[in-house]
Amino acid sequence: MRILVTGGAGFIGSHLCDFLLDKGFNVICLDNLITGSKDNIKHNLKNKKFKFIKHDISKPITIPGKIDFILHFASPASPVDYADLPIQTLKVGALGTHNALGIAKAKKAKFLLASTSEVYGDPLLSPQKESYWGNVNPVGPRSCYDESKRFAEAITMAYHRMHKLDTRIIRIFNTYGPRMRKNDGRVVPNFITQALAGKPLTIYGKGTQTRSFCYVSDLVEGIYRVMQSNHHDPINLGNPHEFTINELAKLVMRSFHSSFTVHRSLPQDDPKQRKPDISKAKRLLKWEPKIQLEEGLCRTVKTFLG
Ligand code: UDP
Repeated sequence: MRILVTGGAGFIGSHLCDFLLDKGFNVICLDNLITGSKDNIKHNLKNKKFKFIKHDISKPITIPGKIDFILHFASPASPVDYADLPIQTLKVGALGTHNALGIAKAKKAKFLLASTSEVYGDPLLSPQKESYWGNVNPVGPRSCYDESKRFAEAITMAYHRMHKLDTRIIRIFNTYGPRMRKNDGRVVPNFITQALAGKPLTIYGKGTQTRSFCYVSDLVEGIYRVMQSNHHDPINLGNPHEFTINELAKLVMRSFHSSFTVHRSLPQDDPKQRKPDISKAKRLLKWEPKIQLEEGLCRTVKTFLG
């Protein structure tokens, strides 16, 4: 199998490339490196089964040779990144998804869209099931990401229905692990870098908002199982264990024996609660995360030390 991974030099994309190479597949990694990094893939550059193409999937591209599967992961994904790059975020979710679907159609390849828990917006229901339609502000600062991913889901289903493309959609909840950029602005890299520097951990708002954190290797295993399934409707992938941001800060402070936090204002439209209902993934894929937060944080911290 020859697999195209858009966003393959990003945090999740690069782990996915490693996993697929390990399984013996040929991998084409496509990335424009605006939030991804060549550092994430440098260990694969000499591998004959790996090919890197520097390209923005928001612009059309012809890739010679057969392609059996397209995994569309390209997009800024941290709230700080997509606030800095709102137009690129909208373009990659809309035009990038259209182009990636076009390649899938031309090559008769299967297609998997990396969507997000952000399609649920600031959810009024918890935990979030795939059947929930969400509560999204269409014009707020997060809308560039939320709405482009909602569009991406819609166009993926349209290609599935109209062109009979063999598609899959996953909704990824908060994921963390090695290769997150130290300055990407998300809470896990922020807290780890702050603790390592002996600085206070910045808690936005009261810290009572919740998130559920999935370690990246658990997520990648889930993605592989979705690739092997033939389910076309969205599937949530994430760790259902829910923490408040205050609890996360306590956990980080405990492992660093450091003990101070500072409060900053809560960003607009910051979701108050987020917890995936993963009963569908459990039932269809026999998948659930194995790595608990304490263990995953420990593994992540080790890679932030260098
Ligand atoms: N957050 C925080 N301090 C930080 C960074 C983030 O308290 O230094 C909070 C943020 O307001 C949100 C949660 O942590 O409620 C998760 O934020 P993140 O940026 O990781 O991603 P999100 O889940 O909002 O997409």
